[in-house]
Amino acid sequence: MIYKRSSALFAEAEKVIPGGVNSPVRAFGGVGGTPIFVKEAKGAYLYDEDGNRLVDYINSWGPMILGHAHQPVVKAVVEKAKKGTSFGMPTEIETKIAELAVSMVPNIDKIRFVNSGTEACMSAVRLARGYTGKDKIIKFAGCYHGHSDSFLIQAGSGASTFGTPNSPGVTKGTAKDTLLAKYNDIENVQALVGANKDEISCVIIEPVAGNMGCVPPKNDFLKKLRALCDANNILLIFDEVMTGFRLAKGGAQELYNVNADIVCFGKVIGGGLPVGAFAAREEIMNFLAPLGPVYQAGTLSGNPLAMAAGLAMLQELNQDAEVFSRLEEKTKYLHEGITKVLAQNNVTHTINRVGSMISVHFDEAEVIDFDTAAKGNNESFKKFFHGLLNAGVYIAPSAFETWFITDALSYEDLDFTIEAVNQVAKTL
Ligand code: PLP
Repeated sequence: MIYKRSSALFAEAEKVIPGGVNSPVRAFGGVGGTPIFVKEAKGAYLYDEDGNRLVDYINSWGPMILGHAHQPVVKAVVEKAKKGTSFGMPTEIETKIAELAVSMVPNIDKIRFVNSGTEACMSAVRLARGYTGKDKIIKFAGCYHGHSDSFLIQAGSGASTFGTPNSPGVTKGTAKDTLLAKYNDIENVQALVGANKDEISCVIIEPVAGNMGCVPPKNDFLKKLRALCDANNILLIFDEVMTGFRLAKGGAQELYNVNADIVCFGKVIGGGLPVGAFAAREEIMNFLAPLGPVYQAGTLSGNPLAMAAGLAMLQELNQDAEVFSRLEEKTKYLHEGITKVLAQNNVTHTINRVGSMISVHFDEAEVIDFDTAAKGNNESFKKFFHGLLNAGVYIAPSAFETWFITDALSYEDLDFTIEAVNQVAKTL
């Protein structure tokens, strides 16, 4: 494939945008080469600036669960835009999407809309601290909750009682209030809670981790966390930015039958526009300004275009009783197909999958946390990524990312992908 124009555009971008990208995950730092510039997208496909067609397994990192340029979403945005793009005043559509979200997700009474997943998680933690009157939080190594200071805590050797900033600019004072735990290791969380008695406001977790590849919770981990939080007056925050409205109508809470105290959303809830949200029972949400003392705000929060896109997306997911099982079937088909061709080519691998989230790891050990995810053979991943790209299949340019399956993918697209994996596997 030719990427002449993408390369030229990247060279231009680098002059005026740090690293040529507005979010680091878009750079090809982990795999080498230069990023692909997208011209347009429709359904399951991206079309780049050089005229290549790519079957898309990133889908804007999750939101495009029904495919790109999905007509009901596009129509809703266009119609809204004609009537004004922002007012900074209440609009009816905000209540409509709030009512629908609250009706779809278990265990929440009220929801506040923000502009990104980062804002959702950052605000959820502030609310938890304000509500409980405690400062410390527990997060899990390998989980990502956006780029707010409290979450940018190193996942490696600093993963012990007190966090270490892994980004200059995060102060030691902030880092010391973030305690790092091991995913899927309840004893580790218990030990942290025991060592910090009455100091921990909340445990924040991706209920299915998607930022170290896809890592499912094992052995009732979420239920055990729930019980631990209950016993210690700690709020449990599910960061459902990836899993919300993707794994089920009610997200991971519904799938695993575990209630969180605060739930964060992003990605699907905005239909591809910049939206995040956090939600909880009434008594917790009423702690927020203007009712309560915890301040949280946003000039563009509840933006009419973003709400129109999100509402159109949620309406469709709510009405289509089969959508989540269809997504699961497609992902299972892909999982089985890839497993078969990698095995045929003697490629050492592990595949993790929950619903429509899936990741391929080049190591045969089970991937259950950040340490095991980090053991994957990165050289194999680089070859895998570039081989697939050359064959017209676009996965995330990092071994630590989940593939997001869209309902726009046909079984022909999946077969095309499996054959591409087969060809690439011969080179690994
Ligand atoms: N939480 C999770 C689980 C995410 O995957 C992400 C982004 O990928 C975020 C939070 C941050 O969302 P945003 O990039 O919209 O700020």
